[in-house]
Amino acid sequence: MYHYNTYREPKRILVTGGAGFIGSHLCERLLNDGHEVLCLDNFFTGMKNNIVHLLQNPRFELIRHDVTEPLLIEVDWIFNLACPASPIHYQYNPVKTIKVNVLGALNMLGLAKRVRARILQASTSEVYGDPEEHPQTEEYWGHVNPIGKRSCYDEGKRVAETLFFDYLRQNKVDIKVARIFNTYGPRMRPDDGRVISNFIVNALDNIPITLYGDGTQTRSFCYIDDMIEGLIRMMDYGSCEQTREQDYTKPYLSGFPGPINLGNPDEVSIASIAEKIILLTGSKSELFFDKLPEDDPRRRLPDISKATKLLKWEPHTGLDEGLGKTIEYFTKTK
Ligand code: NAD
Ligand code: UDP
Repeated sequence: MYHYNTYREPKRILVTGGAGFIGSHLCERLLNDGHEVLCLDNFFTGMKNNIVHLLQNPRFELIRHDVTEPLLIEVDWIFNLACPASPIHYQYNPVKTIKVNVLGALNMLGLAKRVRARILQASTSEVYGDPEEHPQTEEYWGHVNPIGKRSCYDEGKRVAETLFFDYLRQNKVDIKVARIFNTYGPRMRPDDGRVISNFIVNALDNIPITLYGDGTQTRSFCYIDDMIEGLIRMMDYGSCEQTREQDYTKPYLSGFPGPINLGNPDEVSIASIAEKIILLTGSKSELFFDKLPEDDPRRRLPDISKATKLLKWEPHTGLDEGLGKTIEYFTKTK
């Protein structure tokens, strides 16, 4: 059975990448749950607008900092989200993307080790690359090109996972690794370049929607509120088994470190997403086809049986409902 008793104790929580799409929703939810939140961001892809409504909260603090630089701060939990997630943004400066993933993970793991904090890594379905197994379970090792344009992100995230598990084995750091599958919702950037935001922005402007390839490639889209619930459940998993105060001479580990898949197990083709968005917006946009980017995965679908069993988690927001809320956001902020 899932218990929330330890989670209810207020904690001081660092969210790196806290001004980004997922990070800002996480900060908001953690504040609503009564925690103190330190939001760290260098604003590479994050936006002040995402967190401006949180600035008046006395339990919220904003730190402008680059995660590739060390940081010393007293916290109980760290959510390590700092990293550009959209292909156009992470390919803009690929060397920096690798630094963010590797040096960022090293700095945050070092911090976690020093202050005995629990740390969750925002990993990704991209660790599976262009998968040869379908759906993807956590046991699958992936099929990743090490030298392609997506490699700075995919391999960066893979090294970060390795570092997390080495810090667990070598230093008994209390780690959690969540493999996030495509997530969407309000606060995605209109110029983000990812499929849902691109399609909605173009549909609202009645300009052509560009499908890369023939549109038969698939993804599985998880609405942001469901993802936030999954991330928090993963972070909190095992809290009730032992408390940090029990015995400081023994390493504290909260149980299952992951990796765990978090995503929506509803597989859809990119062409069907375009058609759905045109329908929901009542748009006059036409479909336009362009060449498929290098190493673009053909299929992606999470096996979430582990998350369902251990975290008692599964997404509840269907595509029509989630797209409706996202379209409403982009309509308001246009
Ligand atoms: P995002 O680009 O909106 O957020 C990333 C945040 O990290 C931004 O606020 C950005 O300014 C910040 N950042 C980047 N480099 C930094 C640095 N060097 N120092 C400090 N801050 C830095 O992306 P997102 O969609 O919110 O993704 C958040 C995390 O989740 C990322 O780690 C991403 O890899 C992971 N993820 C996201 C998805 C998704 O579908 N959104 C899927 C898989 C994994
Ligand atoms: N895509 C598309 N048109 C766009 C943006 C993306 O056809 O304007 C396709 C892209 O080639 C990929 C899928 O949509 O097959 C998802 O792309 P996204 O960048 O959102 O996520 P990722 O490829 O990282 O899963």
